[in-house]
Amino acid sequence: MNKTLPMPKTLQAAMAYFSDAQRTFDYAVKFRWPSGEITCPRCEGDKHSFISTRRIWFCKSCKKQFTVKVGTIFEDSAIPMDKWMIAVWMIVNCKNGISSYEIGRALGVTQKSAWFMMHRIRLALHNKNFVRIGGSGKEIEVDETFIGGAARFMHADKRREKITDRGVKGKAAIMGILERGGKVHADVIPTRRKRDLQTRIRAHVKAESAIYTDALMSYVGLNRDYAHKTIDHAERYVDGQVHTNGLENFWSLLKRGLKGTYVNVEPFHLFRYLDEQVFRYNNRATKQHFVGDGDRFQMAMQHIANRRLTYAELTGKGTDSVHHEEAR
Ligand SMILES: [Zn+2]
Repeated sequence: MNKTLPMPKTLQAAMAYFSDAQRTFDYAVKFRWPSGEITCPRCEGDKHSFISTRRIWFCKSCKKQFTVKVGTIFEDSAIPMDKWMIAVWMIVNCKNGISSYEIGRALGVTQKSAWFMMHRIRLALHNKNFVRIGGSGKEIEVDETFIGGAARFMHADKRREKITDRGVKGKAAIMGILERGGKVHADVIPTRRKRDLQTRIRAHVKAESAIYTDALMSYVGLNRDYAHKTIDHAERYVDGQVHTNGLENFWSLLKRGLKGTYVNVEPFHLFRYLDEQVFRYNNRATKQHFVGDGDRFQMAMQHIANRRLTYAELTGKGTDSVHHEEAR
């Protein structure tokens, strides 16, 4: 067995690397317990015995078994780790989104399984500890966009549900906050009212940043804390430094991904697709900083190691027709 394979840099190399069950296990252990000290995910106990034939630990404190999957998004999944690794690789490195049908075909699992894998992975990619961006001398773009298919493209049941339950045409508003040359934050927002927009800006952007927005009234008042300049999109899109072209670029990546891959995304699930795109964007290669596919995969694995997702959290409302929404 070749233990000295270099860390993979391409999908093909990743497939070779993770084709070995022991190597995959060792790799997963390294991310699960980065300090090297293996502790029980249930009771934190560090006294355990290892059953190497089954790659299972027996905790001597709580007298229960655990695997490398327990306490992670991989828990309760019968899908072997090699397939999980390849799924992660494909999601974080596909530029324009990838469907559960494609992942299912590539991994030899059902589309339904692939769908659940993808949603678990997306949850893990969500950056809970977003550090506030900007500050004195930094330039921040803020903009909103709408996502969602027109009602006429929906199945009749879906359309009725949309109209009765939500009272909207199936469009969801998204707000983006981007530091030029830096990171982006994006959220599904309930409305474009002042409170919804400005609360998010103040939570994510340091005072004294320069903020550029369009002329939407909801942004009036930002100049109390920021150097706020507006560009009236009804008139023009760029006025020297004042523009939101960075976010326009992000929106087009997001929409291309959604369009190519998803027929219709439930508003409830939209934030996960957003998280996927935000992760890729924030870990993209730049002129100053090279990031390869293998690097992005490792960054994703760091996020994934300790994120747990229950069935209820995943669906939000039990099982429904969400699986049918992706394009083949
Ligand atoms: Zn224990």
